[in-house]
Amino acid sequence: MGKKYYCDYCKTHIQRDPNIVRKHNEGIPHLRNRADHYERCKDITEIVTENIGKKPCRTVLNSEQCIFGAHCRFSHYTPEQLNRLQRKAQRQQLHRAKRLAGIIEKLESADEITHKFLEKRSQKQVKTSNECTQFWTYTEEQLERTDLPPSLQEIDPTQIDSSSFTEWG
Ligand SMILES: [Zn+2]
Ligand SMILES: [Zn+2]
Repeated sequence: MGKKYYCDYCKTHIQRDPNIVRKHNEGIPHLRNRADHYERCKDITEIVTENIGKKPCRTVLNSEQCIFGAHCRFSHYTPEQLNRLQRKAQRQQLHRAKRLAGIIEKLESADEITHKFLEKRSQKQVKTSNECTQFWTYTEEQLERTDLPPSLQEIDPTQIDSSSFTEWG
């Protein structure tokens, strides 16, 4: 005896035989169960728009199971149910719109924060580029000597002007 095949849509085990599985998958009960499954996953707004113009299905009105399932051309929802779903869909849409507005607000404030950060950073960069910091040191010996060539003599960083570099060739 081989392992059984489990159909998620029909919640049933069948023999794991390619022909039997294919026959099952093409069968009306399976197709109906599958359609019903996707029907349940559907957006409420979609269900409402699909059913609002349809006449109620007599079979379902008589509390019987309609063999057409989600494929039925009549509505499987009573007008009261559709009304309730419609209100629910409206609430859902309102909720989504609110959430979207919240996201946009957050994005805008994030944009503002980034903008401020970049502004601050560029101000800082301007500041640091104007400041001359001495990152080298002289030894006592060096400072005392008077016979050093100009390149080894003590220099005053504040006297360095970037424009003079161009003349160095
Ligand atoms: Zn199935
Ligand atoms: Zn029906």
